[in-house]
Amino acid sequence: MKRYALVTGGSRGIGRAVSLRLAREGYHVIVNYVSNEKEAARTLEMIESDGGTGELLAFDVSDRAAVSQALDAWAERNRGCWIEVLVNNAGIRRDGLLLWMEDRDWDSVLGIGLDGFFNVTKPLLKSMLVKKYGRIINIASLSGLKGLPGQCNYSAAKGGLIAATKALAQEVGRKGVTVNAVAPGFIKTDMTEGLDEAELKKTVPLNRFGEPEEVAALVAFLASRESGYITGECISINGGLY
Ligand code: NAP
Repeated sequence: MKRYALVTGGSRGIGRAVSLRLAREGYHVIVNYVSNEKEAARTLEMIESDGGTGELLAFDVSDRAAVSQALDAWAERNRGCWIEVLVNNAGIRRDGLLLWMEDRDWDSVLGIGLDGFFNVTKPLLKSMLVKKYGRIINIASLSGLKGLPGQCNYSAAKGGLIAATKALAQEVGRKGVTVNAVAPGFIKTDMTEGLDEAELKKTVPLNRFGEPEEVAALVAFLASRESGYITGECISINGGLY
């Protein structure tokens, strides 16, 4: 019997590394993306050339109707199957000081980072509760723990995500479902592409940016059965930067 994992924003960066890693752990990985079909197909290609299996499932996590339509259609096509690992990874950054922040930059960052968690988690939770097993891992950020200037929108989305992680963990623990967050610092992906790495890495005790694969290893542990006594946690992975 196949075991299914869904990774939102699996087309690039951390989501791609998580998708590859979970496939290597034996999951059939449903790779979600919003628009970059070419990169999503590349993730699937990498999974398959590594001996794993997966499929693509496009939807915008911030569009509640689109999410439920896509997940309902998946359930219809895969009767009797259920998704036991959910990685809420999709996220964007639209930095700027609050004073000059455009409404759309507030709305889109919260819509994808926080509403996206609700939109995707709610429809998948029921089958986890019925099966009495599930692993939900939310990709937060250091920004959501300490708050960063120029990121009121992003800090709010990630801080909200961490709080929702802790709340949901208490709602579903008795049913064998764990809910955890990971809070990366600087990780080398498209999201950090424009940053001055040479300068910023000096602020990191380990003196480097992290690799997506390092985050994926932590997510894979939280997705495994071995992590079964950890829930409601937010684990930092930031090279010692606080
Ligand atoms: P990335 O390289 O920019 O990739 C973003 C991913 O999210 C892409 O797969 C993208 O899909 C997907 N996505 C964006 N909007 C979406 C939407 N509305 N619906 C569905 N998918 C959507 O970002 P990353 O650096 O890997 O970041 C992944 C997560 O880690 C994010 O939540 C981010 O906030 C968090 N994080 C990253 C860092 C870092 O330093 N990189 C640090 C802390 C936290 P398309 O390819 O289709 O656009």
